[in-house]
Amino acid sequence: MSLQVITLTKDLKSIRDTLSKKDIGLVPTMGNLHQGHISLIEMSLNENPITFVTIFVNPKQFGPNEDLKKYPRTLEDDLNSIRKINQKYKKQIFVFAPTSIKEIYPDNFSSTIKVDGITNILCGKSRPTHFDGVTTVVYKLFSLIKPLKSYFGEKDYQQLLVIKKMTTDLDLEIDIIPGKIIRDTDGLALSSRNQFLNPDQKKQALILPTTLQSIKEQVLKYKCWKESKEIVKQIIQDTINKNPDWDYLEIYNSDRLTPPEDQTVNFILLGAFKIGSTRLIDNLLFKLKI
Ligand code: AMP
Repeated sequence: MSLQVITLTKDLKSIRDTLSKKDIGLVPTMGNLHQGHISLIEMSLNENPITFVTIFVNPKQFGPNEDLKKYPRTLEDDLNSIRKINQKYKKQIFVFAPTSIKEIYPDNFSSTIKVDGITNILCGKSRPTHFDGVTTVVYKLFSLIKPLKSYFGEKDYQQLLVIKKMTTDLDLEIDIIPGKIIRDTDGLALSSRNQFLNPDQKKQALILPTTLQSIKEQVLKYKCWKESKEIVKQIIQDTINKNPDWDYLEIYNSDRLTPPEDQTVNFILLGAFKIGSTRLIDNLLFKLKI
């Protein structure tokens, strides 16, 4: 089957009018596709007759001093990667890649979708407008494409929960399906921002997965959070104190992104780390054996 590229919102709307909601899976991306994105696209290809992939570097989710200008834009390569994976599935794929920001945000656009609470912690602290930008664009893509299911990576775990909350709060009736983090062989989570790193910095970046892993092992040495919390909190604090490049390093109950309670079973460790002007995030989900 074919891949069709759509660049105009009016074309997207008229194509969408011919399709049924129950057939559609959506994978929103900012492009520069790597195996993390492809794994989400494959999930959608497996589960839906029709897959929409959107490729849009969304200016609203970048802060004023962030890397919007230099964010990699590689549309032709992205289309080739999607074509290649679809040789296996032979499904109908539409790629919506607006050529102009105005296709998404026309001149008189003045709305914001905001999820409160969960957006005030972790990435929301150092990127205060980021999640409003994410929810606004994702809501707009949901409205335009009206998928039955949409796929988001656990790599951006806070984003995944924010989107789930928006979908529940606003009764959007779209299944939000999580995809596992895809990592390089050395453990570094794949990210379009990894290419800003030189080989030395790539090695430095391994501090993210290795630190998360070693703190997880500390937590798992104990029967419950009640027993481990003092030592684990101290280890986290010492780690941050040792290296000012940590933006955050925190442990939460993974179901709600709230601080663990004495009897919490499902945990997530989340870290954000700066290497030069590049900020990387990673996380590690795990369960206590009970
Ligand atoms: P982005 O293009 O960075 O906006 O990411 C688009 C989608 O791909 C989001 O749902 C991300 O969470 C997901 N994603 C990015 N990197 C990875 C990865 N290494 N593993 C799995 N999913 C990822």
